[in-house]
Amino acid sequence: MNHFNWNDGFVVDFDLDTGKSDSAVTSKRPLSVVKDIFLDTDAAAEILKKEDPMIYEFHELGAPERKGDLAFGTTVIYPGKIGNEYYMTKGHFHTILETAEVYYTLQGAGYMVMENPEGDTIEKPLKKGDAVYVPRRYSHRTVNTGSEPLVLFYTFDADAGHDYGTIEENGYRKMIVEEDGKAVIVDNPRR
Ligand code: MN
Repeated sequence: MNHFNWNDGFVVDFDLDTGKSDSAVTSKRPLSVVKDIFLDTDAAAEILKKEDPMIYEFHELGAPERKGDLAFGTTVIYPGKIGNEYYMTKGHFHTILETAEVYYTLQGAGYMVMENPEGDTIEKPLKKGDAVYVPRRYSHRTVNTGSEPLVLFYTFDADAGHDYGTIEENGYRKMIVEEDGKAVIVDNPRR
């Protein structure tokens, strides 16, 4: 996968509408793989009896996990809900906690939901054209509250690493759910 020259520089295409790239490797996260991140497990099970919708995908370039390099790529979260909870990414801490990340919204609308180990939370609404700065020490998850795919470009320290486990067990303290046709921030009853 490392067909890019990370020492001499390179140019790569990303489609502004879909986030796709001819040069990136695509990873897919259908509901069957991420069903446990949603609160309403009955709703997830009911959907999975009939179909296995795609929740999100990401397109990455396989950056060397080397100090000083920057990993970058795109994430696409599809529109939809499980129960009243919007489609979202699993979310993660960086293994090297003191590393930030930037996301730029190419299409769609949603939220970046963030939380640090001390329990401080940040929820930032995003729409096309918005860049969001995820500060050091904050776990981060992207939520699609719109009716079209939410497409984001991201970049972070290539050696930061991903820690999915810490936030996985009980989820984030804050959830983004639909109430009366609007996206609202509510407390996670599991926390
Ligand atoms: Mn990250």
